[in-house]
Amino acid sequence: MIIDIHGHYTTAPKALEDWRKRQIDNLATPELGPKPSELKISDDELRDTIESNQLRLMKQRGSDLTIFSPRASFMAHHIGDFNTSSTWAAICNELCYRVSQLFPDNFIGAAMLPQSPGVDPATSIPELERCIQDYGFVGINLNPDPSGGHWTSPPLSDRQWYPIYEKMVEYDIPAMVHVSTSCNCAFHTTGAHYLNADTTAFMQCLTSDLFTDFPTLRFVIPHGGGAVPYHWGRFRGLAQEMKKPLLKDHLLNNIFFDTCVYHQPGIDLLTKVIPVDNVLFASEMIGAVRGIDPETGHYYDDTKRYIEAAALTDAERKQIFEGNARRVYPRLDAALKAKGL
Ligand SMILES: [Zn+2]
Repeated sequence: MIIDIHGHYTTAPKALEDWRKRQIDNLATPELGPKPSELKISDDELRDTIESNQLRLMKQRGSDLTIFSPRASFMAHHIGDFNTSSTWAAICNELCYRVSQLFPDNFIGAAMLPQSPGVDPATSIPELERCIQDYGFVGINLNPDPSGGHWTSPPLSDRQWYPIYEKMVEYDIPAMVHVSTSCNCAFHTTGAHYLNADTTAFMQCLTSDLFTDFPTLRFVIPHGGGAVPYHWGRFRGLAQEMKKPLLKDHLLNNIFFDTCVYHQPGIDLLTKVIPVDNVLFASEMIGAVRGIDPETGHYYDDTKRYIEAAALTDAERKQIFEGNARRVYPRLDAALKAKGL
């Protein structure tokens, strides 16, 4: 079985975008803004957008199941206040839940949280609970920078985040550390802000003792871990100078990397540097890079090809495609086992 742990509903019907636009237009006068009930999207529309996009490519490329969350760049936690984010997150999560119900063999949800800059992260817990308990979601996306590129929140090791971590431990779910749109013009959203955040999140964990407080907490760092695998020697050296334990003991029981790296040399490096136990298959299609690589004639985000070509044993490949996902997302494993898979 091939499990893609990183997919977003980037192809949602246009009505969603129109609703959001009305919400943003009425930020100062929310009483005039659209009600959630004014968003009408039929099951047929959902089916169409999935069948002609994600599911078509999954079949073409040969993956079976995608962990599916709302479009990351549309989370835009910096817009409006907590109520703005709360309504928006609820709508986006519900759509992913409906997709998971329409295609139960191919999609299972991960939640967007209703984060808002300067607001206590504990306020996200009711939506988190709803998604896990009522929707059967198996993970969450946690934005370390709800300000959208201005980094006004304390690091992930700060106690303000602990209520979220306590819930994650209680439910035994991982968080993908995932920022959203950059509203800082110095940082391109998917080319700079995403990768900066991946690297930053790793370093925030390295300098702290977060996983001493939460030994079972798990973070998935997407996009191949940003600059982390490439600079593994720097991180090892910094940890050594800070008198931290070896990274394998300090961080690698808790931090995992996905394979959203869009060329063969990058995947070769990732799988050589990072232990195979810590690498989870993902493509993030249809996402930031949608084109075809003229050097290979294949889509950049067809990452399964790179794993297949990497210097791995069949057992290691199986671990990256399936085993690690089942271990890091125990609720996914339980849902599959309940179906006899
Ligand atoms: Zn993503």
